[in-house]
Amino acid sequence: MADADPIARLVHRLGRLPGIGEKSAMRLAFHILRAPEAEARELARAIIEVHEKIRLCSTCCHLTERDPCDICSAPRRDRHTVCVVAQPTDLLALERGGHYRGLYHVLHGVLSPLDGVGPDDLRIAALMRRLGPAEPDSQVHEVILATSPSVEGEATAMYLARLIKPLGVKVSRIASGVPIGGELEYVDQVTLTRALGDRREI
Ligand SMILES: [Zn+2]
Repeated sequence: MADADPIARLVHRLGRLPGIGEKSAMRLAFHILRAPEAEARELARAIIEVHEKIRLCSTCCHLTERDPCDICSAPRRDRHTVCVVAQPTDLLALERGGHYRGLYHVLHGVLSPLDGVGPDDLRIAALMRRLGPAEPDSQVHEVILATSPSVEGEATAMYLARLIKPLGVKVSRIASGVPIGGELEYVDQVTLTRALGDRREI
């Protein structure tokens, strides 16, 4: 039973992480094995803590320790603008740019019928609640669709535009400075800031 062997088990677990092949998993496992025990415990604790302490913001669905999250509760942010992104990593990339002062909404994915991802699998209902008539003090005037320009990202943006526009909220799409098929989180900050600044209404 290879799985009963602690090293094999660790290699197997690490190998299931995104971007980690078998060789890398092996290298990481032996690094952890050779590291001081305190370091290994710290790593294990950090992994457990993200699961125990991090949850979704009930407003924007970003990952947070506090609900509402720091961005949603920041008094100086522009509450009229909501930027919709696919993943928390995209939000972090935009925040690193440091120019966007509005709020966000994290979908946690994009529409992908081939992978069985439909509207109900994304945080679309929570977004519509923020914009809809059921929210009488809704202050949102503009929704910026900042999903990546991949086929799925575009389809998701078009789907959302069709849902949101009838509410009388301005809908815009980030400019095509982002390379086609590019993942937002890997785009450099200048390009990302320009793509946001040059957004066009749809
Ligand atoms: Zn939030």
